[in-house]
Amino acid sequence: SAGEVLLKVSNLKVAYGGIQAVKGVDFEVREGELVTLIGSNGAGKTTTMKAITGLLGINDGDIQYLGKSIRGKGAWDLVKQGLAMVPEGRGVFTRMTIVENLQMGAHIRTDKDGIASDMEKVFATFPRLKERAMQLAGTMSGGEQQMLAMGRALMSRPKVLLMDEPSMGLSPIMVDKIFEVVRDVHAQGVTILLVEQNASRALEIADRGYVMESGLITMSGEAKQMLSDPKVRAAYLGE
Ligand code: ATP
Repeated sequence: SAGEVLLKVSNLKVAYGGIQAVKGVDFEVREGELVTLIGSNGAGKTTTMKAITGLLGINDGDIQYLGKSIRGKGAWDLVKQGLAMVPEGRGVFTRMTIVENLQMGAHIRTDKDGIASDMEKVFATFPRLKERAMQLAGTMSGGEQQMLAMGRALMSRPKVLLMDEPSMGLSPIMVDKIFEVVRDVHAQGVTILLVEQNASRALEIADRGYVMESGLITMSGEAKQMLSDPKVRAAYLGE
C-alpha cells in the first residue's frame, strides 16, 4: 500500500538553548500511510513536529517534503504545498464561529466550489460542527474544538496531515470518537503523521510506528507487530 515518500526526516537535531531535545532522528512517511510517533512525556515528539512545520529552527539534519528540503520554510508556505498541522492544544480561533474557523482553513484556496464541497464533507465527518456552525468556537468542549481543529486543517485539502496529540485532555468517550475520526480521515485517502502518548490506541489505527525516547527513535516497525511486541507492550502499553 505504501507509495512514494512524502515526508523524510534525516538526522534531525533540535535544541532549546544548550538542551538537546531531539538528538538525530530519522523517519519517513509514505503516500497513503498513517504513521504514528509514540513515546512518553518529554521524549521530543512535539519538538519534532514543531521543527517540521517551521515553528522551531533546527540545529542539524534535514526535513524533506515531496523530495525537497523545507528547512526554514514557514507554516503558510507549507500549508500551500499541502502540509497541514493540527497543533497540540488545537489553536482554534475562539472568538470566531465554527464556519469562520473552517473558512480560515481554506484561506490559501480560491476555488469557491471546491471549498463549499469540502465544507460539506467536513460537516459530514463531524456532524457536531454542523449543528453548531454559527456558534463561537470558544464555547465548545475540548473534544469539539479538537474536531474543529481537524476540520480546519482538512479545509486546506492537505496531502499530509500532521497531528499532535489529538486525544490529549479529552474524556474517554471523546478519545474514542477522535481515534475513529482519525481512522476515517485516513480511510478517505489523507496521509497522516500522528504524534500520540496514547500508544496502544495510536498503533491500533496506524500502518507503522516509531517509538521516541529521550530525543531518539528507539524502535520502529509495522504497527500490528509493534502492538504484539513484548518489549513495546512492557514499555509503552502499560503491561
Ligand atoms: P509531550 O508529550 O509532553 O508534548 P514530547 O515528547 O512532545 O512530550 P517535547 O515537548 O518535544 O516532548 O519536549 C522534549 C524535551 O524538550 C523535554 O525535555 C522538554 O522539557 C524540553 N522542552 C520542550 N519545550 C521546551 C522549551 N520551550 N524550552 C526548553 N526546553 C523545552
